[in-house]
Amino acid sequence: MRKMPCLFYGKPAILLCDGLIGFDADEDENGMMMNCRGMFTCDAPMCQDCATWHGNIFFFRQSGGMETKDYCPLCEVLYQSGERIRVAPHRKDFAIPEPCLAEAQTDIIRKAHWNSDLNNHRRQLSSIQGGGQQCLPF
Ligand SMILES: [Zn+2]
Ligand SMILES: [Zn+2]
Repeated sequence: MRKMPCLFYGKPAILLCDGLIGFDADEDENGMMMNCRGMFTCDAPMCQDCATWHGNIFFFRQSGGMETKDYCPLCEVLYQSGERIRVAPHRKDFAIPEPCLAEAQTDIIRKAHWNSDLNNHRRQLSSIQGGGQQCLPF
């Protein structure tokens, strides 16, 4: 992984957000997903302090190992309020309403998502954390 600063506090990022944006897949005319090749995730670089842990993913093949599933503060806010980064309008009542996307579309959505409530969110964070933590004057 490239060395990047945390998107939220500027510490070195050690994690990438696993918030789901959509799928690299095809859809049939009824909106059913086919040929799923992968998932597009938020990928916001973040430090351990900003990540909210959502479980472990274990790998049993090859050398084995473990990865964690972590949400950035933006995705965590969405998750807590039952919202999603992106919902395909024709699948909004489906169990998996995230849209099927191309990489280029994902890039645009990802950037908009990163920029979305960042300032708002920072204000929220600083009020939650009160005097305990030094907040940078963004
Ligand atoms: Zn951070
Ligand atoms: Zn995220």
